[in-house]
Amino acid sequence: MQLWNKYNKEELEAQLRAKGHEYVTVSFYTYAKLPNPQIVRDHLYQAWHRLDIVGRTYVAKEGINAQIAVPKAHFDQFKEELYRIDFLHGIRLNVAVEEGQEFPFLKLKIKVRDKILADGLDDQSFDVTNKGQHLNAQEFNALTSSDDCLLVDFRNHYEHEVGHFKDAILPDVDTFRDSLPLIEETVLKGNEDKKVIMYCTGGIRCEKASAWFKHRGFHNVYQLDGGIIKYANECKTLGLENKFIGKNFVFDERRAERISEDIISQCHQCGAPCDEHTNCAFEGCHLLFLQCPACQANMENCCSEKCQSIIHLPEEEQKKLRKELTKSNLVFKKGRFNLTKKPN
Ligand SMILES: [Zn+2]
Ligand SMILES: [Zn+2]
Repeated sequence: MQLWNKYNKEELEAQLRAKGHEYVTVSFYTYAKLPNPQIVRDHLYQAWHRLDIVGRTYVAKEGINAQIAVPKAHFDQFKEELYRIDFLHGIRLNVAVEEGQEFPFLKLKIKVRDKILADGLDDQSFDVTNKGQHLNAQEFNALTSSDDCLLVDFRNHYEHEVGHFKDAILPDVDTFRDSLPLIEETVLKGNEDKKVIMYCTGGIRCEKASAWFKHRGFHNVYQLDGGIIKYANECKTLGLENKFIGKNFVFDERRAERISEDIISQCHQCGAPCDEHTNCAFEGCHLLFLQCPACQANMENCCSEKCQSIIHLPEEEQKKLRKELTKSNLVFKKGRFNLTKKPN
């Protein structure tokens, strides 16, 4: 069964295990003008490789977006070195609420990209610095208690289906890029006088989207500063009411961090209450979806009978099938999934 991929993953895990680190999962981002992102990338790669940091980071002319795991023993040095870089001095580091995964990432990848976030916006066409007003957890709780506000989740369907704020509007979208015109058309239009409160995982999506909607004529735009991650941390440390129910989907191997005990979603195969994500065991598919333990056993961690039949083929044939498929990080998309297979 998918020996080729498994072996690689296990090998990487063995390498990490041999180093014996305990990790802290950290994310941060900032929009900044970087004329030469490649230099930034190379510098960070050298520095982080030396500190055994793993994770995924994008650097672009418009800034940086990092999701990494830092060995606890190297955290202070990591922070000190990071803050020595001008545009990163004093930057907020979003630290995970719960760990619960031995290795949140398996290797270090730092890539230079056109944008740090695929938002589909033409940055020249509006003032990206005219952002929505930032809210901390306390301000967010106060403002969302009033009637004249629209609380909008700016994440994708597969993220908010396992957890979201009480009373939030949950647009049915698969990508951030597609979400902006859809939210304007179906949620915001006609509500120009209302307060629009936006939130996402760590805050990055709202940074530019809030400026975009101000440009589109919505004047009372607010955004949850540091997103759900910072909010959950603040609620914990300050003893505030936590209005988030379920799990916060994250982009590392943990897949989600539990914020409240509520399970608000269902297994995609049988409909039982479930908020555990699985990647389809056929590496050529790798679909990310929700699967309960019973279906996991029945379907052998596969998303469909088709994939289940493939994982029993000889490795050579699987390899061939993998090549035929375009590889991408597939995620469950509403509408493309049918509740066909029922467990016995
Ligand atoms: Zn199930
Ligand atoms: Zn599959």
